[in-house]
Formats: sequence, structure tokens, C-alpha cells
Amino acid sequence: MPSLAPVYQQLMPIVDDLLQQFAHLHRLSGSEDAERAAALLVSVLQKYGLNARLEQCPLLLSDPLEGGLALADFPDWHCAAKTRSFSAHCPQGRRAALFYDPLSTSARSDRQWQQWALQVKGKIVIADQGFEDYVQRLSAAQAVGLVHIWGSAESALHEETVGPIWGTPTPDDRLRYPTLPVVSINQHDGQRLLELYRQTSGPLLADLRTVLQQHVRICSLPIVDIAGDSDEFVLLSSHYDSWHQGVTDNATGNALCVAMALHFQQQSATLRRGLRIAWWPGHSNARYGGSTWYADNYRQVLGEHCIAHINVDSPGCRDAVQVVINASGAELTDFLQQAVQAVTGQPPLRITPLGKGGDQSFWGSGIPLHFALREIPLEKTSDSPGSGGGWWWHTRDDSYDKVDLAILWRDCQIHVHWLDHLLHQPLLPLNVADYLQKMLLALNTLQQRLDPCFDLQPIAARLLALRQPAQALTQLTAAQPERWQALLIRLAAELHRVGYSSTDDFHYDLSYHGGAYPGLQQLAADLRQTSEETTLMMITQYRRQRDRACSLLQNILADIQREMAAAELDSGCKPSSATT
Ligand SMILES: [Zn+2]
Repeated sequence: MPSLAPVYQQLMPIVDDLLQQFAHLHRLSGSEDAERAAALLVSVLQKYGLNARLEQCPLLLSDPLEGGLALADFPDWHCAAKTRSFSAHCPQGRRAALFYDPLSTSARSDRQWQQWALQVKGKIVIADQGFEDYVQRLSAAQAVGLVHIWGSAESALHEETVGPIWGTPTPDDRLRYPTLPVVSINQHDGQRLLELYRQTSGPLLADLRTVLQQHVRICSLPIVDIAGDSDEFVLLSSHYDSWHQGVTDNATGNALCVAMALHFQQQSATLRRGLRIAWWPGHSNARYGGSTWYADNYRQVLGEHCIAHINVDSPGCRDAVQVVINASGAELTDFLQQAVQAVTGQPPLRITPLGKGGDQSFWGSGIPLHFALREIPLEKTSDSPGSGGGWWWHTRDDSYDKVDLAILWRDCQIHVHWLDHLLHQPLLPLNVADYLQKMLLALNTLQQRLDPCFDLQPIAARLLALRQPAQALTQLTAAQPERWQALLIRLAAELHRVGYSSTDDFHYDLSYHGGAYPGLQQLAADLRQTSEETTLMMITQYRRQRDRACSLLQNILADIQREMAAAELDSGCKPSSATT
């Protein structure tokens, strides 16, 4: 279907040139290199006649500088350690006895967590994970520190964050930042540490030291617009900040976005919708600060005119031959698959719901379509969740040699297919009826994990009540997109609010509250193993989240019914394609 095929010889030299320039820039937001990268992006776009500009956003940054782990009684024992963005800053170090939590990755009941809290109080905990919710529990339990042993065998140390706040915080969020130092060590050193821990009869005293710089900086956010015939636009985005030189995370994504700008600029005269491309700062050391700033500052324009957000993170990785798609669920499966099929000859390996991460800051913005391409190797040997599953993800080794230009070209072509459709076709590739079905299934799965007193049936009933109106609306939209598509968009956006968020449009869930119906996920527990206090909190959470979901679904149903009734009155009869 591409109305104009992308030309390798035209685009890839520019892409490759950008990669080679970015390969020398350590683009942590707030640094001079990051600002150079933003200026470079704008100058490349301007050189080719595009009207690129820089937005300026103030972000709260937490830069991990040094991490150290030493053993008081074993001065010759050494290991390399890295601290985490938003860990506590403890340059003087903290000393305490080590405690190994062998079940850190297993589910625990509320009573087990209470027992655990007594064990970790006053200790430096060794664990096989360092996720934000675990760090929050350690903070609350007054643990002294955390040593996270990385789960796969690579020796390289990965950068990460323990920041619980999505984007830049508000005053009340301040209390949530971790109060304990966190470091990560590699698996080999972790095993050495555990061996000594098990051999030592008394307490094994450790010194944990972290140095971080927390600061506010104005960061550049490059933007380019390619206008279409209407006010509607697609938002294509990629974070340009990186850990170290981050060539596959995310210089490749930035270069892919530049290629899209150059390719679609040539057809701007024929575009029905515009293409807006944003390169976010603050993904790494401000926990999606750039995209959140954009959502906060352009709420109205996004809500009124943006019809899709496509996020590009880490395409073009060596060995990443398999394509996976993360999508909200509202997208027409054929639309997502056909682009991959057309380029690779095969459908994507799978299509899964979007996870919590990747600058998905727009659940409250009213955008109906959200998706992202991901890729993985045939065989995954590292725990890396990014850079196409490569062990070099978030390390100093994410260098130019980890790029596969043929794979990057594959990924460029897939995005051209998607964008061609979205920028040219009047009808959006929405399948809201199918989305409702997926939401019902996810609700049912969640119900299996909850105590029966947390009855999700009221939500299910309201989802079911939307089924017929959604089908009717889909048919009306197919016949008259200019009349009905806006309402279908609102329905999809409302379902996203229910399925992907637990708060209002002006706030963000904590960085670790993911999964379908994130506000209800927290109720998954055996109440017989839950204290009275926690049970009370869960009942309150249940009532509020149930009623929020029901109210959102009821309101959109009423809106649809009202508009359809008004259309009947206008035409003096029932809207024809809604009668079937
Ligand atoms: Zn990334």
C-alpha cells in the first residue's frame, strides 16, 4: 500500500551518519552531550528543509554517579557496583549487617510481608531484584540499603532507576522517593557475596555507598511538524537521552524518526493528517519526564487532534530478528500485522498489551491508538528487557557495533507502512468491539486472582452494555467517518482510561502500577492472610476503583446514546447502518 516507497539509498546514509555522530555523545539529560544531540537533530532536519524547533522543559533529574559495596571484616574483598537513578544519595556510606532475601521475586501475602519487614529492618538486603515497589517496601520497613544481584550472567553492569514517580513530581510526591541507598552488582560477584554470607557464622557487615546528583535542568525537546490537510495528527516519539552512548537505546530510534520525517515530508501535499515527531529528554534520569511534560503542556491539542501515539524505542538491534508489537488493544489486528507481514514476509511473533514504561504518558490525553514495535533475538540469554534483548542494554557497551543496519531498515519500512495508513486513510484502524472483548477477558482473569468480595461484575456489566452501541458506532463510522469517528475515538480513549490508568487525566499512576486495570491489580491477595488494617485499605481501594470505572463507562455510554438519538431526530429516522 505505501503510496511512495521509502528509498534505502536516500534515507539510510542520513540515518547511519546520525548514528555515528550519536555514538560519541553520552546523552544523559542535563548534560552538554544531550543538548548537543538535541541541536544536532534539529540541524539535520532543518538542513533538509523541515521546520524543526526546540521546546524547553524543566526536569528533575537524578544522575547515578558512583556506587560502592565493601565488607567491613574482609577489606580485600572487592566488587564493582552501580547505583540507581533516584536511589538515596549516601556519599558517607551506610554500614549494617547483610540479610539475603531468597524469595524476593516470589509473591508474598500481607502477613508474610509483615514478617519480612521485621527481618529486613536495620539490614542491608541482598535480593535478586531491584524493582521500585520492592524498594518502596524496603524504605517503609526501614531497611538500610539494597544490593540487587543481576539475574543473568553478563559481567557488564546495567543502569536503571528506582524512581516511583512518573515524570517530574508534585510536592506530595517528594515523600515517596527512596530513603535508602540502592546498588546493583553482577551475577558473578553476587554469587561470591552470597558464598561468603553463608559461610559467615555471625553477621556479615557491609558498607554501602552511593553518590547521586539530583538537580533541576532545562532540557531541550526537539519537535517537528509535517502538516496534513486537517488538524489531526499522529504523534511519533522516541527518547533521545541515553545511558552512556546508548546507540541501540535509543540513537537507532531517533534516527528512524528522522527518516520518517524526511520520507513523509516529500508527500506532505497529499497527507490527510499531519505527522508530529517528538524526541523526548528525561526518559532515563527523570523517569519519562520529557513525555510527561509534553502531556501536561499540550493536553488540549493532544485531546482534540492527536489520533495515535507511536513510540519508537531501540529498533535496529543486532540479532533482534523477531518482531513483537506492544499495542493498547484498540488497534485493528490486521493493520498492525500487515505492516510487519509486508516487510518481513511473516506476521509479528505476538501482539501484547503495552507495559508500564516506554514514555506511555498519554493514557489521559484522549488518544485512541497507542502502539510500539519491539524486537527480540531467536534465543534470549540476558535478562535485559530492552535493546532487542541484547546483554549490552543500559551499559557502556551499547556501542555502534550493536546496530544491524539491515534490521534498522526493516524497522523503518514497518513504520512507513503504519504511518502511510494513518496519514492517508480517512478511517482509523480501530476495533473497539474487539477491545471490549479483550477488556472483558482481562477483567475475568483479574477476578480469578481476587477475593470474591471484590466483585468486578458491575464493571463487566457496563463493558457488556457498550458492546452493541460500539458495534453500531463502528458501522456508522465506516459509512460516515467525518460524522461519527470522533465519537468512536472518544470511546476508545475512555476504555484506555479504564484499562490502563487508575487516576484522573491530570495525574499519573506510580511507575510500578501496571497491568490491566492497574488500580484493581492491588486487590489480588488472599484476604485470610491479610491484616485487618490492610483489608480495610483494600476495601476502600476497591469501592473507589470500581465506581471510577463504572462512572467512566456509564458516561461514555450515555454520550453515545445521546448522539445517536440526536442523529435519529435530525434525520427523522434511525441511523441506517445502526439498525443491524
Ligand atoms: Zn529506551
